[in-house]
Amino acid sequence: MLANVQDGAAARAARETPAEGVGLFRTELCFLNTDAEPTVDEQAQIYGEVLEAFAGRKVVIRTLDAGSDKPLKFAGHPDEANPALGVRGIRIAENNPGLLHHQLDAIAAAAEKSGEQPWVMAPMIATAQEAESFAAQARSRGLTPGVMIEVPAAALLAKRILEHVDFLSIGTNDLAQYTMAADRMSAELATLTDPWQPAVLALVAMTVRAGAAVGKPVGVCGEAAADPLLACVLTGLGVTSLSAAAAAVQGVGAKLAQVTLQQCQEAADAVLGTASASDARAAALAVLG
Ligand code: PEP
Ligand code: MG
Repeated sequence: MLANVQDGAAARAARETPAEGVGLFRTELCFLNTDAEPTVDEQAQIYGEVLEAFAGRKVVIRTLDAGSDKPLKFAGHPDEANPALGVRGIRIAENNPGLLHHQLDAIAAAAEKSGEQPWVMAPMIATAQEAESFAAQARSRGLTPGVMIEVPAAALLAKRILEHVDFLSIGTNDLAQYTMAADRMSAELATLTDPWQPAVLALVAMTVRAGAAVGKPVGVCGEAAADPLLACVLTGLGVTSLSAAAAAVQGVGAKLAQVTLQQCQEAADAVLGTASASDARAAALAVLG
């Protein structure tokens, strides 16, 4: 059970919860009000604070997920009609490779200085080629590479993506958005972007199977992991770690402590047989209480 954090202060606060590490460090949130690209030294200092707060623990640093709902002034976003389907996340590196190089240099510098070994992952991966390119850049700096599974294409080809990276982390917020073709920011469409949607959970199951087949970890770091009942279902599906907002860690951990892995697996099987989010929730509740 890990925590999602956005800076050193949040990491120090998360350290006060039972979180065993950081499953998602959203680095772009450090720079929402920054006009110019921060220097490698400035970045290394910020990343180092999070590594220090969780010294000796697992920390997964996500490279800048800029664009769409989180534009960064220095990322040079093009004017787009559909930013959620546009140049965001890893796609920014195509025309602006320096941004990713500098960030990986900064993470490597923070790792070196602290003596920690953070994992790094890229957001919005859609193809195995993107995963391959990111992994090569991370490995050349001695970092352990993974990617986020947020785009249905990446879930469907998880097996081929895993030929290049050491772990996967499923971002259920975006995976729901792109699977259901429904804007995650729209309150009107919230029933479609519900992570209990069986189509979303089917893609989670597929991704987990691909990881299990090659013995590589597959975590979930979207808000689905903050729902205690759904966290049990995800565990039953075979997810190897859960990462949620620090405020949710205690509650999710408490629920997991009340149930057996077998119950979680039964609930996961029941959920995969349903055809609606409400039926999925009811099926899980019937097994897990
Ligand atoms: C997600 O998409 O589920 C995720 C964890 O990333 P973010 O919410 O930052 O887009
Ligand atoms: Mg996301």
